[in-house]
Amino acid sequence: MANTVPDISLNDGNTIPQLGFGVYQIEPRDTAEAVGRALEIGYRHIDTAEMYGNEAEVGEAVRASGLDRGEVFVTSKLNNGFHRPQDARRAFESTLSALKMDYIDLFLIHWPLPTRYDGDFVSTWKALEEFQRDGRARSIGVSNFQVPHLERLAAEADVVPAVNQIEVHPYLTNEQVRAYGAGHNILTEAWSPIAQGRVLDDPTIVDVAAQVGRTPAQVVLRGHVPRGDIVFPKSTTPKRIEENFRIFDFTLDDTAMERISGLDRGEAGRTGPNPDEFDYIPA
Ligand code: NAD
Repeated sequence: MANTVPDISLNDGNTIPQLGFGVYQIEPRDTAEAVGRALEIGYRHIDTAEMYGNEAEVGEAVRASGLDRGEVFVTSKLNNGFHRPQDARRAFESTLSALKMDYIDLFLIHWPLPTRYDGDFVSTWKALEEFQRDGRARSIGVSNFQVPHLERLAAEADVVPAVNQIEVHPYLTNEQVRAYGAGHNILTEAWSPIAQGRVLDDPTIVDVAAQVGRTPAQVVLRGHVPRGDIVFPKSTTPKRIEENFRIFDFTLDDTAMERISGLDRGEAGRTGPNPDEFDYIPA
């Protein structure tokens, strides 16, 4: 079985590689090297954010790779302090200039911040619609949106988000939000797909890994694939970057998939903040 990363169709006609490389918590000084390694191994999708402080180094690595710009799918996200449309326009321009790119493949609202900006993320979303209309964002989407937030966009905006990037891993399957996405043509991107490493010593995961002769990380990442979710694990260790890429040359049977889904702990399984409450605005 060849290890080929599938391209998945978004609701706007563009496609996205189902596996990418995440750069959250990678120091700017280490980012170009890690992304360079990922591109060498075969990753063609990088997930960054203004909040991560390493957009410039992602752009640098893409240019240094020798790949054509069109061969690499790049995502970034609007930081929490810039939800007002005028600020969003400025922030989007500075994302493009940090990346030194004239377009981005996917631009997301990082957090809905329902308790900030008088609860208005709709005018922010309309700014993203502008970026898509003028061609500088090929696709636009949201992150950490809960069902009521998505319902509000459906009622008040024109464009359906291409993706919703939310926390999903075996301890938090986030089924309700995923189901809303599936029913409304919004792909789910699973952030912290291995729960920042916390699920890797789970006895069930260790057991399934032994049965299929793969590592726990490979088993957990592979488990996201048949569900249709997009994943972008993070690592700065070359061996792990390579290991996390090799998830398409084996499969998990239904029993293994059911055992993994059975690990869901609901809200208690969250590793990150609850999007209904999260209100952090960087200084
Ligand atoms: P992750 O689930 O990808 O876990 C990363 C950690 O797991 C690493 O730091 C390392 O310690 C460990 N690890 C990685 N590969 C391993 C392997 N093969 N074996 C053993 N341990 C391994 O966590 P993440 O970085 O939080 O999430 C992935 C990406 O999702 C981020 O880099 C970022 O791009 C995105 N993200 C988005 C949001 C959001 O709010 N939209 C929030 C968090 C993360």
